[in-house]
Amino acid sequence: MGKLDLLNSGVQRYFDDFVNKLEQRGLRYSIVETLRTQAVQEAYYAQGRESLERINELRKKAGLYLLEESEAKKVVTKTMNSIHLTGKAADIVPVLDGKVPWLITANNAELWRAFGALGQEAGLEWGGSWPPFDKFHIGWDAPHYQRNV
Ligand SMILES: [Zn+2]
Repeated sequence: MGKLDLLNSGVQRYFDDFVNKLEQRGLRYSIVETLRTQAVQEAYYAQGRESLERINELRKKAGLYLLEESEAKKVVTKTMNSIHLTGKAADIVPVLDGKVPWLITANNAELWRAFGALGQEAGLEWGGSWPPFDKFHIGWDAPHYQRNV
C-alpha cells in the first residue's frame, strides 16, 4: 500500500486503520490517489471549466493521460485548495469482480456505504456524507476520505 506512505504523517494511522478494517472483512479496495501535486490539482480544476485543449495542455504538464471531450466536460473538483494537496486525504474505492464500480447503482450502493461506514469508524470524514446526495443517499464524493487536523 505504498501510496498511503505519501500521506501526512499525522493522519496516516487513520488510513491504516481504515484499510485494516477493509482487509479484516475481506473487502477488496484500490487506493486511487493520496497526495496530489499543484499541477495535477490545476488540471482537475480546469475540467468542466476550460476548453478541451487547455485541459489537456495542463494534464500533459501534470503527467496525466489526455481526456476525450465528454470526460473533459465533467467537473471533478470544487476547489483549488483540495485537502489532497496537504496529504490529508485519500480516494479509496471498492473493487468488485476485479473492477472499480465507479457508477453507483442499486447493485453496489451497499458496498460503497459499507466503505463509508468503515472509514468513518476509523475516524475519517467521508466525501459520501457531503451533499448533494444521489438516490442511494450517497454524497457527491464517495471515493474521498480525509482527516483535517
Ligand atoms: Zn479525494
